[in-house]
Amino acid sequence: MSSVTLEAITKTYGEEVAVDGIDLRIRDGETLGVVGPSGCGKTTTLRTIAGFETPTEGHVRFDGTDVTHVPPERRHVGLVFQSYALFETMTVRENVTFGPRMHGVGPETRRERADDLLAMLDIAELADRNPATLSGGQQQRVGLARALAIEPHVLLLDEPMTGLDAELKRRLRDELGSLLDDLDVTALYVTHDQEEAMAMCDRIAVLADGRLQQIGSPADVYRRPENEFVANFVGTSSLLTGTADGNRVDLGFTELEVDTDATGEVTVAVRPTDVHVGGPIEATVVDATFLGERTDLAVELPDGTSATVRVDGQYQPAADETVSLGIDADRVHVLE
Ligand code: ATP
Repeated sequence: MSSVTLEAITKTYGEEVAVDGIDLRIRDGETLGVVGPSGCGKTTTLRTIAGFETPTEGHVRFDGTDVTHVPPERRHVGLVFQSYALFETMTVRENVTFGPRMHGVGPETRRERADDLLAMLDIAELADRNPATLSGGQQQRVGLARALAIEPHVLLLDEPMTGLDAELKRRLRDELGSLLDDLDVTALYVTHDQEEAMAMCDRIAVLADGRLQQIGSPADVYRRPENEFVANFVGTSSLLTGTADGNRVDLGFTELEVDTDATGEVTVAVRPTDVHVGGPIEATVVDATFLGERTDLAVELPDGTSATVRVDGQYQPAADETVSLGIDADRVHVLE
């Protein structure tokens, strides 16, 4: 496997800027998630790595070698798409040997390689089955085996869970996450679902409007979002305005001791779980959604700002009720 580097990649279609000056690196063996709203440039980024798109500006490197103008079939990239798109007129083994055959690998070697991969992915007994007769999880493994059979430098996965029901998705994402870990593949995982990316990826790149907003570990991106977009796209945050001075932020209705070097006006990103019931802040409940183990409250803070608070499901206040809240200052994040 290789590392992949994108250097100042821009891709325009006429007036439309799909990708706008992206620099990023997928380290050898890591799974990098790419998340962002519809149209932010995720698929274009993936297609640029695969070689289906030539960037308008910038370079793509595999292990330092410039592949910007190398055609897709010579890049040795493994692709896993939505719902796997397996060939239904072929057996599982034929699906897996297809890529190596196209790359001119001899019949014995490609059969051996396919059987090794099927064994490794624990689906050896399915080799002679038709993909249409397999479960979603089994199809996913076949799709992965097929992509890995060409011994790719990098594996590219584009929304591979789309179309699966929520329960299966949750199970498969854990399975696929550990498989990618165990196989030590360099992978780019495109999804619009930030939770899926957090569960599966070593690091996450957040895109908006064709630009890279932040790249880091799931915990980093969640706990230390660099801007308001990231604070709201990865999980939800209530954004409160305050004045920072030393290690204190004055929100007007309360003061927080926080870890920041900022001074002057700042935005404080507060997660729904960074707030507890019982504290000095008198807030008004706007809406309470009972979700079993927890209740999500939409509240209005004393300065009129809206905030979302997650409390224990035992607690179910009515709308318009006043609740006393405290903010866990050591958990909130100051956007500088
Ligand atoms: P989604 O999550 O909806 O799949 P995405 O983040 O993958 O979106 P892209 O498919 O990369 O987004 O598209 C980025 C932008 O570039 C969009 O505004 C899209 O309309 C535009 N775009 C992509 N491909 C083309 C094309 N071939 N011609 C013109 N515009 C394009």
